[in-house]
Amino acid sequence: RDLVKTFPGRRSRAGRAGAPIRAVDGVSFDLGAGETLGLVGESGCGKSTTGRMIVRLLDPTSGTVTFDGTEIGGLSQAQLRPHRRHLQMVFQDPYSSLNPRQTVARIISEPLLVQGTGAADARKRAAELMELVGLIPEHLDRYPHEFSGGQAQRIGIARSLATSPRLVIADEPVSALDVSIQAQVVNLMEQLQRELGLAYVFIAHDLSVVKRVCDRVAVMYLGRIVEIGDKAEVYGRPAHPYTKALLSAVPLPDPAAERARERIVLLGDPPSPANPPAGCGFHPRCPKAQEVCRTERPLLRIVGAGGAASGGAAAGGRQAACHFPEE
Ligand code: SF4
Ligand code: MG
Repeated sequence: RDLVKTFPGRRSRAGRAGAPIRAVDGVSFDLGAGETLGLVGESGCGKSTTGRMIVRLLDPTSGTVTFDGTEIGGLSQAQLRPHRRHLQMVFQDPYSSLNPRQTVARIISEPLLVQGTGAADARKRAAELMELVGLIPEHLDRYPHEFSGGQAQRIGIARSLATSPRLVIADEPVSALDVSIQAQVVNLMEQLQRELGLAYVFIAHDLSVVKRVCDRVAVMYLGRIVEIGDKAEVYGRPAHPYTKALLSAVPLPDPAAERARERIVLLGDPPSPANPPAGCGFHPRCPKAQEVCRTERPLLRIVGAGGAASGGAAAGGRQAACHFPEE
């Protein structure tokens, strides 16, 4: 609820501190057991920072993170320990997130050893996890560089599952992999979700990656959620101009449909969170921007038919932050 993360601003040459940067600026959402939320936006929009705050790899500046009824946002690392096993993370680059000097057995068992599992049991569990993610248990004593990128990411996934978590934050888990391998890893993640009842926050920079896996999707821009809702609604009838633009960049399988559709090309890069535009953060790039957009910041509100009846984004309805949403 209302997660905010500010980082200190850059110092000027004169040594004066710059304005703090609001990397995440008031993000709220709910995630049910076994559900997947796709968290999508361009690089720098705050999606990784949001994911890291949820599992407390980063402390929120303000806001709360409630897991299974316990507010974990404010717990010390020691108080967090009993919850830690339920909250795990898979990182974007499998090689840089796996210690090159450790064997796979050691890497996968690490979270278990931290939790106090004995060495022999941890190794046995590591072998089971290797099998679960489609790797050969006999390869436990190899090192990360002896595996391909896709295999290394399977190791990262195995490590995240070691403690039988209930929520896995997957931060662009396939974007460093070859396209041919991406589908395999996504398939594996879906299969594991079905078997283990995991909930995922699946972070991606483009909407095509999460289309299959997510139940709901949240689109972030400049540290805020600009649209959130059920997958079918957001993909089928996007309400926010930014979502529309992102979707228009997703290739369509049917070539005729691909030729016929209108592509929305966004001008320029997202503005720096150090110096966000007034009003709607998207207005400098928005094809629908009006005068009011330059001065008044639109808040998330319910859009579309089903929204009000289903009680808003918290209950699975759809919300968008735009003065002129597509209805
Ligand atoms: Fe575009 Fe205005 Fe909506 Fe922002 S509030 S997305 S500028 S139409
Ligand atoms: Mg990132």
